[in-house]
Amino acid sequence: MNNNIDEITESIAGSGKRFQMLLDAFHEKYTGDPIYAAFAPGRVNLIGEHTDYNDGFVLPVALTRNVCIVLRPREDDTVRLYSAEYNSWTEFKLSELEDERNQAWGNYVRGVAWSIMQQGHKLTGFDGVISGNVPRGSGLSSSAALEVAVAGAFLYGSGINNEFTGPEVAQATQRAENEYVGVNCGIMDQFISVLGAKDHALLIDCRSLEYTLIPMPTDASLVIGNTKASRSLASSAYNERRAQCELGVATLQQKLPNIRALRDVTSAQLAEHRSLLEPLVYQRCHHVITENERVLATVQAMKTGDLARVGELMSQSHQSLRDDYAVSSKELDAMVEVMQNCPGCYGARLTGAGFGGCAVALVTQGQEQVVADAIFNAYPKKTDIWPEVYATQASDGARVWTL
Ligand code: ADP
Ligand code: MG
Repeated sequence: MNNNIDEITESIAGSGKRFQMLLDAFHEKYTGDPIYAAFAPGRVNLIGEHTDYNDGFVLPVALTRNVCIVLRPREDDTVRLYSAEYNSWTEFKLSELEDERNQAWGNYVRGVAWSIMQQGHKLTGFDGVISGNVPRGSGLSSSAALEVAVAGAFLYGSGINNEFTGPEVAQATQRAENEYVGVNCGIMDQFISVLGAKDHALLIDCRSLEYTLIPMPTDASLVIGNTKASRSLASSAYNERRAQCELGVATLQQKLPNIRALRDVTSAQLAEHRSLLEPLVYQRCHHVITENERVLATVQAMKTGDLARVGELMSQSHQSLRDDYAVSSKELDAMVEVMQNCPGCYGARLTGAGFGGCAVALVTQGQEQVVADAIFNAYPKKTDIWPEVYATQASDGARVWTL
């Protein structure tokens, strides 16, 4: 078992070894050389959970971990892609985008092609190899990293990259996940994977899609604790929470006819009209509305370098997700508690949809290993599960370059 915090410099630029492995795999699978490399990062959300589908605010950071593809465009419309992690192929013709739902990872590749072509663009095929080091199925959005990297491969490979803005790539890849793969995610994951920037968090207004880079305080670092607990409840609970938010809006519209989403409701208005709502729906709305307010407060605190305040808001966010939104779990609560009690930690919260996956802590730079040691020491005693811990700096969003 590995007790060491993972390398901070796992980015593709800094990690020659991983990139060389991709090039070697390409040469092993095909004759000739690849022409392009496309990478896209996973993400961790600092604060603003379950706000994206309520037209609200989120504040994610792009990870140093990413999914990378090396590819060579083809003359025809065949796509052949080999996955290093799955040791398997996906192959299809763009003109015959039949859905193969038994081929999980290949489905994302098809979905991205489907989404871009549905908008009237013509794509050409490619030969490629793909590899990622974003933990899969852990709430760090390896799926968005995969989709955005694939979009980069298609757009550059087909010579139409200039026809898309960053937000348009995010929207096209979100549509792939929603409508082709069939996962009802918001826009945050794809958006940060495209538009993240080194040493910055990204404030996204999920209604207007306006976005602002917010510098990360230089003395802060992020430690992510993977609970390694199953997220099996997550998707049904996610749909249920979305329905409860919609019911909350419909009910509040009786008194507040101008609101379109929970984004438009203040805490004061919610308190005033509380009696209209069933207790459970009130709690769900209370989380979303206060979470939006916490995101904006976090941005203010980051601007003044007030890390203690940022940490406090993150910990309040966890409490709200646990008590009002009810999407935490025994394992996430245990992880967050260990993090919060650790010297050098300003605050911690679950990140992602909840029920399992990861928690994120804001820590003083240089304290990453101390926090990791505390997690490896205390978390297994509370849960009987061996966790994983990753340190990350805020990193750049997706890039494609010519080899
Ligand atoms: P998350 O986005 O939280 O990591 P998801 O279940 O949404 O979890 O997406 C995980 C899926 O994305 C994997 O099951 C796989 O199909 C695909 N995926 C992620 N990373 C890779 C990779 N490196 N190679 C191939 N497919 C990947
Ligand atoms: Mg995902």
